[in-house]
Amino acid sequence: MVSVIRAGRLVDGTGAAPIEAATIVVEDGRIREVGGEGGEPSTGGGDAERIDYSDCTVLPGLIDCHVHLVFSARPTALQDILTEDNRRLLLRAVHNAQLALRSGVTTVRDCGGRAGVIFALRDAIEAGIVPGPRIVAAGPAITTTGGHCYFLEGEADGADELRRMARRLAKEGADFFKIMSTGGRMTPGTNVSAAQFSQEELSALVVEARRLNRTVAAHGHGTAGIRNAVAAGVTTIEHCTWVSEEDSARVAYEPDVAAQMARQGTFLDPTLSPGVAIESLPESELTPSRAEVRRMRPAVHEAQRAMLALGVEPIAGTDAGVAGVPLDSMPIEVMALHRHLGLSPIEAIRAATHTAARACGREDELGSVQVGRRADLLVVEGDPTVDLGALRRVRAVFREGVLEVDRGRLVRS
Ligand SMILES: [Zn+2]
Repeated sequence: MVSVIRAGRLVDGTGAAPIEAATIVVEDGRIREVGGEGGEPSTGGGDAERIDYSDCTVLPGLIDCHVHLVFSARPTALQDILTEDNRRLLLRAVHNAQLALRSGVTTVRDCGGRAGVIFALRDAIEAGIVPGPRIVAAGPAITTTGGHCYFLEGEADGADELRRMARRLAKEGADFFKIMSTGGRMTPGTNVSAAQFSQEELSALVVEARRLNRTVAAHGHGTAGIRNAVAAGVTTIEHCTWVSEEDSARVAYEPDVAAQMARQGTFLDPTLSPGVAIESLPESELTPSRAEVRRMRPAVHEAQRAMLALGVEPIAGTDAGVAGVPLDSMPIEVMALHRHLGLSPIEAIRAATHTAARACGREDELGSVQVGRRADLLVVEGDPTVDLGALRRVRAVFREGVLEVDRGRLVRS
């Protein structure tokens, strides 16, 4: 099956300049040829399907590097996950996955859910039973007993238990590991400022992950936990808000740690969307914790801009599923990378496509419109390189060359 797609403009995800009047040839789910300036493709003769998006921009399907498909995104997100059983969580996850797909997200990295639910949904989508984005799944986030997100059932204490947990999750089907290196504001009783694991414990997990050919994503708010995770050699730091060890309302950025991230290629996943959501809350809905996040945002953004200046590479992750952040939030995240961290629109798109694929270890398959990659394509009206708001105007979404979304609706039954 060959399709020839005409694009008014192609943004290939690598950070290269857009190509006007491009042609993309897709064969058996993969990109076979990419041409520019309206030239006829050498392949795709008589019986090829011709698809005309000459009034649109085509870019790679977006990769959201941080979602929680089992979370409800409602103000009661914590209460919901504490009370809903796995059958209900699975139905919620199906809805969330399809919401993401309809917004142009063709791959999500799920950073914490119930193992049985997330792995089952991932496998059902791959088998074509339900439409949805490709899921790169951690299963539960690994945490200390009673630690941040303990309710996802990934509790492990000490190096031996961390190794055992990694082996168990790999056996059950985890694609990567997520570790909570500090507490989090969602889980009452955890400490955002303090490290949950020592550097030695995190190193034990990272070494085991390498042996199992998997990467490690570390949730990190407090500077102490970020420092430990970077020293242990994790692949991505999630949130990375540099909360001071002494004072949870203060930012204590450490340039030496950021410089090490740049040297060793540790990615920054700043997950800006929850902060954007809190910014627009009325005062009446500002809990003390949310008010603190709101006050700290400018200093956090300043620290993250300093990290980028040192050469740390950003990726895009929404933390969708947490309160106020539905699964179709990627346009908000990409716009926030531009507005708050100073990325150009092309750079922000790269963070949400090619760099995201690299962080997932899938750049040979995903994240760019290049020959040989899977034909995961997002078609939007307008020019996102001028106005990222165009990412909200989704005309179509293809997964592996198959039209999944047409004008906002799922079309494959
Ligand atoms: Zn999260």
